[in-house]
Amino acid sequence: MDKVLLDYGSGGRASHRFVNELFFKHLGNDILARMDDAAVLQLRGPVAMSTDSFVVDPVFFPGGDIGSLAVHGTVNDVAMMGARPLYLTCGFILEEGLPMQDLERIVASMGEAARAAGVRIVAGDTKVVPRGAADKIFINTTGLGELLVDPAPSGHRAAVGDAVLVSGSMGDHGLAILSTREGLSFDSPVVSDSAALGGLVEKLLAAVPGVHVLRDPTRGGLATTLNEIAGQSGVGVELAEEAIPVNAAVAGGCAVLGLDPLYLANEGKFLCILPESEAEAALAVLRADRLGLGAARIGRVVAGHPGKVAMVTPLGGKRLLGMLEGEQLPRIC
Ligand code: MG
Repeated sequence: MDKVLLDYGSGGRASHRFVNELFFKHLGNDILARMDDAAVLQLRGPVAMSTDSFVVDPVFFPGGDIGSLAVHGTVNDVAMMGARPLYLTCGFILEEGLPMQDLERIVASMGEAARAAGVRIVAGDTKVVPRGAADKIFINTTGLGELLVDPAPSGHRAAVGDAVLVSGSMGDHGLAILSTREGLSFDSPVVSDSAALGGLVEKLLAAVPGVHVLRDPTRGGLATTLNEIAGQSGVGVELAEEAIPVNAAVAGGCAVLGLDPLYLANEGKFLCILPESEAEAALAVLRADRLGLGAARIGRVVAGHPGKVAMVTPLGGKRLLGMLEGEQLPRIC
């Protein structure tokens, strides 16, 4: 069997063999192995839950693939609630004819990403659709995690006077996908930042439990995410343009393509908004971790222009940074 066949999603003998040989091999654990209609989980206290569907094109890209991305994306959304991600479910929509080699590479990468993130895949489903009814592979993941702090960080909790931090450089994932898709190359390679952030968030909250907001700037990038938070909290945000970390290769590529890195997706970075008095302690924790080496303080929460984000340029000029209008880059995640 070198290609995915329609039979594999039938629920019959062919699909059982397919599931056993491929999915259990890479994703198996004691809960999944029970093969009942649903997983039974032990959870204590409040739980954060999130779901996301992954349709990224291309499915393999520098720094990752759709399998690891489907784990990271959902784990990170759960972590942004101040939770420890524990369980994932996964649903696969496969296009008939997908090379088995590609599927196995993706599922193996998913298993590896889940183990590295400390989450178990406890339920799953596979459907195969006729050629042309989907593009290669789509993956949905749902994640569950236990809250580590109370109250949980939330986009509604940004307060005037708070500091705004980012855990690293902006725009890497978006530009990596775009340049791979379009076959562009730059002087230095652009690699997706796709990574699971649960461990770093847990360290941060252990040191600084009073964080007000955590959010991963995925689709729409930093600018759109900060606009969402400003709107939810009814506050203004003021950013210092020169303080926002952008890798030289990303800045160069964006200049060539006429893109703004602040609107490009990230898959391994987060925003942290917290009381000014805790900002230095938080930065120290972030910078001590491989995933937070490039952490920086980029701005503050202000009372003026509620719901809006303003950029202060090095010369002291000010301009508003709006939300992304429509889709800049489809199928980025
Ligand atoms: Mg998110």
